[in-house]
Amino acid sequence: MKKSAHLITQSTQITGLFGYPVRHTLSPAMHNAAFAHTGLPFVYLPFEVRPHDLKAATAAIRALGLTGVNVTIPHKETIIPFLDRIDAAAKKIGSVNTVVNIKGKLTGYNTDAPGFLMDIRQCGCNPSNATALLVGSGGAAKAVARGLIDAGAKKLFITGNDVRQGTALCRRLPRTTFVALSAWKEKIAQADILINATPIGMETTDAPLANAHELHNKLFVYDLIYTHTTGLLQAARAAGARYADGSGMLLYQGALSFERWTNTKAPVAVMRGALLTALKKHSK
Ligand code: NAP
Repeated sequence: MKKSAHLITQSTQITGLFGYPVRHTLSPAMHNAAFAHTGLPFVYLPFEVRPHDLKAATAAIRALGLTGVNVTIPHKETIIPFLDRIDAAAKKIGSVNTVVNIKGKLTGYNTDAPGFLMDIRQCGCNPSNATALLVGSGGAAKAVARGLIDAGAKKLFITGNDVRQGTALCRRLPRTTFVALSAWKEKIAQADILINATPIGMETTDAPLANAHELHNKLFVYDLIYTHTTGLLQAARAAGARYADGSGMLLYQGALSFERWTNTKAPVAVMRGALLTALKKHSK
């Protein structure tokens, strides 16, 4: 660690997170540790932005000269009309999780998709030519689905309880088919990768998305939930499958945002350490 703390001065640059709610976010711990380590004059703050205040809050990025922000639920799609430019990859996904302010011009990026891909590859999962099964079709699922298809997945099945949203997502992606919730488990046998992009499992009392006997040991199971080992991941372990929680995706999407704002290589190990410490505190 180069510096354990940094002072707020007249040249401190402000980054942060727009979301509602943002009380439980772990991102400030991760980013402020990275700024302290690199000695860069930046801070990262949580901003609780109500949906009807999003336009004004986005204008404030320009007015107050913020360097940029992350964007989370429920603003990832609704912020798009308030930005000056959307990067091509974010446009294809249809959601933005990172905004960069260059001289008053705001550009929206999506680092969730590359963050997800970096993490699964790090876990030894190669999506190229794989058959994947994705549960959920909300904001995070859109980024994961686009990431998998662009990385060369041979076939993607998407399921979820919002049929209209799920089929709309499938229409925008090649090699992708919607499967009804009542039938998705029939696809597990032919899948190489199973991903949960719903909040099912967030509560430790939630029934697992799938049980061990419904999985197989050639699967790689990924749960975007990162606060604990969900019932799905416990089932994967019991089935002898490889598995990972979403903390690595959170880490890499954050590292990529850091690099967009600072043009400096992210200190990934420092960010991972800060994230794990924050997660431990969070789970107490
Ligand atoms: P979201 O936009 O609200 O989407 C959630 C999706 O799950 C929707 O399609 C929703 O359908 C579906 N769903 C909810 N309950 C369901 C059920 N009982 N059965 C089937 N489908 C159900 O949320 P999100 O932003 O995509 O986040 C999804 C999860 O990913 C959350 O747990 C979030 O914490 C996590 N996440 C992790 C990361 C990371 O970096 N690891 C990043 C983003 C999100 P309906 O709309 O019909 O309910």
